[in-house]
Amino acid sequence: MSLPHARKSNPVGLRPAAMFIVVAALSLCPERARAWDFVGHQALVRPRPVPILMYHEVGDGPNQLYVRTSDFEAQVRWLAEERYTTIPISGVRAVLAGRGDAKGRVVALTFDDGYESHYSKVYPLLKEMGMTATFFVITEKIGRPGYLSWDELGEMVRGGMEVGCHSATHRDLTRTRSSATIDYEVSSPKAVLERKLGVSVGYFCYPSGKNSAALRERVKRAGYLGGVTTAPGWALVGGDPYLLRRVRVSRSDTMEAFKRKLEDPWIYGGSVR
Ligand SMILES: [Zn+2]
Repeated sequence: MSLPHARKSNPVGLRPAAMFIVVAALSLCPERARAWDFVGHQALVRPRPVPILMYHEVGDGPNQLYVRTSDFEAQVRWLAEERYTTIPISGVRAVLAGRGDAKGRVVALTFDDGYESHYSKVYPLLKEMGMTATFFVITEKIGRPGYLSWDELGEMVRGGMEVGCHSATHRDLTRTRSSATIDYEVSSPKAVLERKLGVSVGYFCYPSGKNSAALRERVKRAGYLGGVTTAPGWALVGGDPYLLRRVRVSRSDTMEAFKRKLEDPWIYGGSVR
């Protein structure tokens, strides 16, 4: 490395050269260029709460976890008409901190459990509307009847969807003290998803929303940037990123009820936790 020597012999001449290298790198690498844009917009927005909608199945089914396809379509089209920007879970933190370039009203859409309907019904509509969402998948269910296949997940990721981890088997992780079990359910599926899909998986969805301080610490140590729960409420400014609340969308929700859930960050009277 001749840099220290060069700096000593020609301290002024290095600066234009260094600037040239930075500019060349930014123009050659689209990822860096986007990062540069992102920095440029940081001062333009204020910190604000984010509604994170929680869906499960889309279609007809026996309980509240199923949102009818026609209702789901109406909800998505209303979001588009109202000019909501959909952001992935990985984008929530920036909005809560007043960073990022998402202007206007934002909403994060999340879909739990990795059902086949997420590929056949959700993904085509979101793609048509230019929207994104985060899909929390259970790795051992991938490829089973009624669930997404690896090929479908790969196509969704390439189409701009985000994948999060919802454990390996969906067991209650607050009931085990086995370090090996936690590793198997928290760390391993992250690595599997990242290897198979070629993306980084930054967020964990606690099975059935059940979490504890010990589990959250393990999730953090496994390299996740945050976790989503089933506790009702918006993600609020100053809240714990490992305890992100969500707004459940249920089969019985009328369009008016759906709209109300997006009107008031304090609809459930939540705290910043
Ligand atoms: Zn689940």
